[in-house]
Amino acid sequence: MIGERVNLLGLPRKELEAFVAERLGAKPFRARQLMKWIYRRRAADFSAMSDLAQDFRTQLADAAKIAVPEIVTEQISSDGTRKWMLRMDEVQGIETVYIPEPGRGTLCISSQVGCAMDCSFCATAQQGFNRNLSVAEIVGQVWLAHRELTEARADGRTITNIVFMGMGEPLANYRNVVPAMRIFMDDLGYDLSRRRVTLSTSGLVPQIYKLAEECNVALAVSLHAPNDALRNELVPINRKHPIAELLAACWHYIDKQNGRSVTFEYVMLDGINDRPEHARELARLMRGRPAKLNLIPFNAFAGTRYRCSPAATIVRFRDILNEHGLIATMRRTRGDDIDAACGQLAGRVKDRTLVRLGAKLTGSRMPAEVQ
Ligand code: SAH
Repeated sequence: MIGERVNLLGLPRKELEAFVAERLGAKPFRARQLMKWIYRRRAADFSAMSDLAQDFRTQLADAAKIAVPEIVTEQISSDGTRKWMLRMDEVQGIETVYIPEPGRGTLCISSQVGCAMDCSFCATAQQGFNRNLSVAEIVGQVWLAHRELTEARADGRTITNIVFMGMGEPLANYRNVVPAMRIFMDDLGYDLSRRRVTLSTSGLVPQIYKLAEECNVALAVSLHAPNDALRNELVPINRKHPIAELLAACWHYIDKQNGRSVTFEYVMLDGINDRPEHARELARLMRGRPAKLNLIPFNAFAGTRYRCSPAATIVRFRDILNEHGLIATMRRTRGDDIDAACGQLAGRVKDRTLVRLGAKLTGSRMPAEVQ
């Protein structure tokens, strides 16, 4: 055998077909059989693939592998939420969270080791950024969760939804996130409908336009503020792509994709973005648009200067939005006893960013591309 064994986990169907044809001289239907084994039956070993000829299995073992990340720790919350830390190398780890609900199970996955977006209220941002996850590392989170949950969940409904709301900015890792999403939606992969795969972004406008052309999934946008002055402070990428540009990209996405609506996430920060006039400003931005608001109670973490808005303030904020004809819901916090709630995922990251994005975007020179 010459060269390294190819990891089949995360190879899109076309590439897997090309691999079995070119490297192994086999028919395309072998690729389909392999996909069923890898994703549906959770096989990580070619020797278990009993309907493949012995010779073919030997050939596969020489040329290929199914390499999944390793679980370092598992924590289970009193509400049933599970969090896994997955090993990336000797020191670094990323986190994946499973949120069970009656009749549904949401897996919240990471797209990067850390994050470079530098949002001031997010625990991941404090860790800095190290690198993008590969397609195999993204799909591997689903593979592992599926394996762990099949044993744990009696009703058989393990993963019904996948959301990119773990560590990282998925659109800054576009190249690997899009093929992973294709596997989530492939009928030989995880066979999820496009409404059950959600990409959440802090607002990388050019990539939203690109996604509109290439891949059809539900879009969530971390808005968090109704005007640029405030959003510049909370979500620094806003200094590069302000709200008007971001919203134009969102409406384009919905048009292009025949989608229903964009979900705007809005973290409730006491005394910062939670006043009635903020709600009214938000309502003006969204009026008549295909938008839903999701109000997220702020989840605290060590060293943060923010506090969550009181429950009555959040309810009032929601009511104002509703009175203006907007659909606004409140996200229930899950898994906070194991630091698995939104914005609490820290993992273990060796920071390689020399300057924080917020500081960079304040300076006179704008970086050509912000990763
Ligand atoms: N980078 C992507 C996805 C990751 S975060 C994005 O920005 O959308 C998923 C959601 O949790 C985002 O809306 C994020 O803004 C929110 N979030 C981050 N920190 C939080 C915190 N401490 N409390 C509540 N929500 C938080």
